[in-house]
Amino acid sequence: MDFSLSPEQQQIRDEVRKLCAQFDDAYWLEKDRTGDFPHELHAALAAAGWLGIAMPEEHGGAGLGITEAALMMQAVAESGAAMSGASAVHINIFGLQPVVVFGTEEQKRRMLPPLIAGKDKACFAVTEPDAGLDTTAIKVRADRRGDHYVLSGQKIWISTAQVANKILILARTTPLDQVTRKTKGLSLFYTDLDRSHVAIRVIDKMGRHAVDSNEMFFDGMAVPAADRIGAEGEGFRCILHGMNPERILIAAEAVGIGRAALQRAASYARERVVFGRPIGQNQGIAHPLAQCWMNLEAANLMVMKAASLTMARWNAAPKPMPPSIWQGRRHFTPAKPR
Ligand SMILES: Cc1cc2nc3c(=O)[nH]c(=O)nc-3n(C[C@H](O)[C@H](O)[C@H](O)COP(=O)(O)OP(=O)(O)OC[C@H]3O[C@@H](n4cnc5c(N)ncnc54)[C@H](O)[C@@H]3O)c2cc1C
Repeated sequence: MDFSLSPEQQQIRDEVRKLCAQFDDAYWLEKDRTGDFPHELHAALAAAGWLGIAMPEEHGGAGLGITEAALMMQAVAESGAAMSGASAVHINIFGLQPVVVFGTEEQKRRMLPPLIAGKDKACFAVTEPDAGLDTTAIKVRADRRGDHYVLSGQKIWISTAQVANKILILARTTPLDQVTRKTKGLSLFYTDLDRSHVAIRVIDKMGRHAVDSNEMFFDGMAVPAADRIGAEGEGFRCILHGMNPERILIAAEAVGIGRAALQRAASYARERVVFGRPIGQNQGIAHPLAQCWMNLEAANLMVMKAASLTMARWNAAPKPMPPSIWQGRRHFTPAKPR
């Protein structure tokens, strides 16, 4: 059993860390103070090709899998960017996997390259005031009117809606009492965020100030039927292709934040001298830090195990499945976006 990173994985980690080192603590402190979105980090990751790490090569991505994407996002968080950095690009990594898996060729050509290049910014809208984990209880409606749908209802906790020009949204197209299973009758759309038909209100919160969280009130927002991803009524099945890998990314990011905190704590323990010696020489300081390191190592092993099990499951699944997931490449060079 080999727990070490492959040369390619180590290269991903090193390159992302090098890029993120441009954005130091002073940068993040300023973003946290002002609440401004970290456009510069988003643009730098896009310019170097990282936003398409798990997107298909034929659409400008790197065609790598969840393990590599987790390593990338962990390196972003570990740089000290923490959730302010990771959440700024998080949706790019697996959010649009439903488009990769269920989108038509026309949709993939239209939707993926601008997101990979950083020209489009997307938000992801599932949660509602009365539907968090219980996704099938969502009430936002998408009513079909000829060649388009009309969206109405409320979403909450939607990240990046202040800066996004696109939205991936799950809505009910068939009422709950008319479906055979509650996972049916939901449809997924990736479309323009038309601010003339949606009121977007920032939610005040503590933490991750640079990445906005929002309430969204949809009032007859028209969505072309051509922007529906997958079959009508099958949106729940589609969105799981983004949501499930996203959990692994979040866990990898959390380990990255823990490492950033521990690294700072260990540095301080080495530098801070009390009674003539660094405080880190006292067991009362050193042992809890070592305990934190062990906990982080254990958590990281669990994250990587989840990623490898996911890869194994996808590799074994009957095709067609997302080519980005199973096509491993021996040597990684981030693709330059088109
Ligand atoms: C900062 C932030 C950013 C977010 N960004 C987005 C976004 O961009 N897009 C989006 O769609 N959503 C977003 N969310 C929403 C997030 O996905 C939801 O908070 C999450 O889905 C949980 O929903 P809830 O908070 O309503 O929890 P609830 O569904 O109310 O559940 C609360 C807790 O109850 C327990 N629980 C509930 N049911 C069960 C059960 N069956 N078994 C065991 N335990 C259970 C769990 O401990 C659970 O954590 C964001 C949230 C935050 C705080």
